[in-house]
Amino acid sequence: MSEAVVEVKNLAKTYGNVKAVDGISLSVARGEVFGMLGPNGAGKTTTVEIIEGLRKADSGTVRLLGMDVSRDIHALKERMGVQSQHPALYPNLTVEEIVNFFRTLYRTSLPASEIIKLATLEESRKILYRNLSGGQQQRLSVALAFVNDPDVLFLDEPTTGLDPQARRAMWEVVENFHRIGKTVLLTTHYMEEAQRLCDRVAIMDHGQVIALDSPRRMIEQHIKESAIQFKMTNYPGQEVLTGLTGVTKAVKEGDEIILYTNNIPPAISALLELASARSAELSELFVRQATLEDVFLKLTGKRIRD
Ligand code: ATP
Repeated sequence: MSEAVVEVKNLAKTYGNVKAVDGISLSVARGEVFGMLGPNGAGKTTTVEIIEGLRKADSGTVRLLGMDVSRDIHALKERMGVQSQHPALYPNLTVEEIVNFFRTLYRTSLPASEIIKLATLEESRKILYRNLSGGQQQRLSVALAFVNDPDVLFLDEPTTGLDPQARRAMWEVVENFHRIGKTVLLTTHYMEEAQRLCDRVAIMDHGQVIALDSPRRMIEQHIKESAIQFKMTNYPGQEVLTGLTGVTKAVKEGDEIILYTNNIPPAISALLELASARSAELSELFVRQATLEDVFLKLTGKRIRD
């Protein structure tokens, strides 16, 4: 078993009546990309910020790189990369000035040009932060986490607000960091992101970890079936859909219906027959493999994103 970079035991944090973190235990091995996946308010940010030493837990313990975050924060600061949520504190500095400011916060740092390249902001190095687009600001905030060439990187929703192309570019940045053996703890509410980047994922809901495994094992363990997804007028009700040949489970989420099945052809035939008998119209019908979204839906009865 590799050495744990993050070791969290029985972590809890309450705000008023809200149990933001409700007894979380997890460990992240050296060289692992570990994801915390869950809807807004699940407690991801609170957990990560406790691990980073930015917030204090009510109870529980956190070891980071073998050290105590509350005691050894100065030594740890040099070795962890934290995605700044608020480089907007400096709206009137240029990209280059912000990068250089962040470089002064650490004993060792990467060259400014390297950070600017990670953010793909070479053309915008002289632009004021406030004049960058939302996506550019986001890319800068992620790239700044690399400024001290950290051993462990914390990314909080690194691709929220990015267009698909920028999102894929960001995934490559994380994958390159992973490839050289570094450790990443990231939060996301994009299941594609968790599935693509993470060696292991903790699915969170209401301050708790409700499943923890590699994306593939998690899907295999919870969902043996494929999914037939579609929209349908004249909804026949869950009972009728579950009764169709080959269908093991039917779920309706908004106007989308998902049938889970081990045998796709008879299930589709039965669905088409049903639609025809009820003069119901089917649209946006497709068949897909199960995803982490299906695991989340199965465990909580709701989608990660509305
Ligand atoms: P998001 O994706 O929205 O950031 P999250 O999974 O990161 O969601 P948290 O931000 O950790 O969730 O919030 C967990 C719960 O704790 C939420 O109900 C939130 O409103 C509450 N909470 C978090 N921080 C505070 C705070 N400083 N004061 C009061 N309540 C808080």
